[in-house]
Amino acid sequence: MKQSMTLIPTLREVPSDAEVKSHQLLLRAGFIRQNASGIYSFLPLGKRVLKKVEDIVREEMENAGAVELLMPAMQAAELWQESGRWYSYGPELMRMRDRHNREFALGATHEEVITTIVRDEVKSYKKLPLTLYQIQTKFRDEKRPRFGLLRGREFLMKDAYSFHSSQESLDDVYEKMFTAYSNIFTRLGLNFRAVIADSGAMGGKDTHEFMVLSEIGEDTIAYSSDSSYAANIEMAPVVANYEKSGEAEIEMEKVSTPDQKTIEDVSGFLNVTSSKMIKTLCFKVDEKFVVVLVRGDHEINDVKLKNLYQASVVELATPEEVKVQMGCSIGSLGPIGLPQSVEVVADHAVEYLVNAVSGANEEGYHYTNVNPVRDFSVNQYTDLRFIQEGDLSPDGQGVIRFAKGIEVGHVFKLGTRYSEAMGATYLDENGRTQPMIMGCYGIGVSRVMAAVVEQFHDESGIVWPNAVTPYDVHVIPVNAKNAEQAALSEEIYSELKRNGFAVLFDDRQERPGVKFADADLIGLPVRVTVGKKAEEKVVEVKWRKTGEMEEVSVDNLIQTLR
Ligand code: ATP
Ligand code: MG
Ligand code: MG
Ligand code: MG
Repeated sequence: MKQSMTLIPTLREVPSDAEVKSHQLLLRAGFIRQNASGIYSFLPLGKRVLKKVEDIVREEMENAGAVELLMPAMQAAELWQESGRWYSYGPELMRMRDRHNREFALGATHEEVITTIVRDEVKSYKKLPLTLYQIQTKFRDEKRPRFGLLRGREFLMKDAYSFHSSQESLDDVYEKMFTAYSNIFTRLGLNFRAVIADSGAMGGKDTHEFMVLSEIGEDTIAYSSDSSYAANIEMAPVVANYEKSGEAEIEMEKVSTPDQKTIEDVSGFLNVTSSKMIKTLCFKVDEKFVVVLVRGDHEINDVKLKNLYQASVVELATPEEVKVQMGCSIGSLGPIGLPQSVEVVADHAVEYLVNAVSGANEEGYHYTNVNPVRDFSVNQYTDLRFIQEGDLSPDGQGVIRFAKGIEVGHVFKLGTRYSEAMGATYLDENGRTQPMIMGCYGIGVSRVMAAVVEQFHDESGIVWPNAVTPYDVHVIPVNAKNAEQAALSEEIYSELKRNGFAVLFDDRQERPGVKFADADLIGLPVRVTVGKKAEEKVVEVKWRKTGEMEEVSVDNLIQTLR
């Protein structure tokens, strides 16, 4: 590609609103432009990188037996109502109406659509397992879109969904997907870790996140110094069986509010009373108490909470019943028993939260077997401690260390959550109707592009790894007006292309300093400079990563670059 013919608007200045390197560099090197908060155009170079990431993802998906399809971004509200997520997803789901006033969602994810497709088209166990994937734009009205492509409101995701007639089949495909993900991130050259994303009922084997290690990551990973154990700290297990460490420090305060019912509505009334280990929010809505147990670093709607580990809302519908309406990422736990009277509710709610909510992080999922006596010292909630640096690793090998990570992929065993809600059933060998067992597997394709830049850059710009570089070689005549240099550059450009290299040819009438600075900023792996020695058919090859330069005779150029 001749640079004069394409669009690579480089910037000298660091854009003031870009906080992280990937955002700054992708803007400065002319890969992306912002349209609105969290919404970006991919300019020609950016589009090429996306395509490369997509190609790697596609190859590994096909290797794992997944088949590509494409589903609509605009989805009838009825689908989301059927699954229940129309009501539970919250404001992150973009909603809209058509001219007939019918409601739609812009797909934040595609479980609903895929489940209805498979429900309608697959009836027999003979068609299972089936794994389908797409690479498609997703819409999420993120509370805080930031860091450029890392947290967008419109972004590109690869999402795959598998359907099974047995748990073993799901386990098998999950394993294959896990391997595919490891292959993808390895091929991208990323420094990553697969971490346990949920230490829930089935021992933390049902969901893993793939984390790119980075200082600017929004997740904290707890990993073992000596083994492969790694977990998202949000989900890392509560370290149980403590010695009592001091006086009980929990305090709770009841705050009366008017008629509001949702956490959104009452957020203004949340009253934080903190203790050393656990912060508890307790408030009262319509004579019902709502308790939120807090840990780690999060926000609940507008309330910024330091140290939120686990937040759940318990609505004490009746003295006999506790309904947990919201987990830390909007999980619903369903009713659990609470045999105490309303008067002592606040105290016991904490106990029950510890009991029931410690695994809540995804809608419909929670620990079912947490035992307060066995796992926690009851009535000594303040002794509960969540995993910390220096703790013995839960697998008994090594000690826990923390690192920051960017979540680039997530694999998840869904079970029958969607198939049951939406009636996706099949007939088994015996002619019996069974709900399909499902898995889902996501990769943030556009986020990956930014994560690569986070890991591969230096003072002068991006340093693309070969796997996803927009072009392989940057050919730069020092003086494009010099006939010999221009002719030799053209010759090299054609020759390289003929030999399968993707070439960017800086044919612009710019000063050498400008061209070199742009080349470093754009970050192609190798630069071929055609200068004074053009007459002798000698050019300079410079490797972007190491800065090493060598003079090479044109005859040996292809060989040198291979
Ligand atoms: P996060 O915890 O960062 O909000 P998530 O857990 O909500 O991500 P998933 O629902 O697991 O995301 O989606 C699958 C993948 O899509 C994520 O692993 C991530 O790579 C990507 N992704 C999610 N949200 C965004 C976003 N706002 N911008 C870009 N990529 C995203
Ligand atoms: Mg999210
Ligand atoms: Mg996440
Ligand atoms: Mg996730």
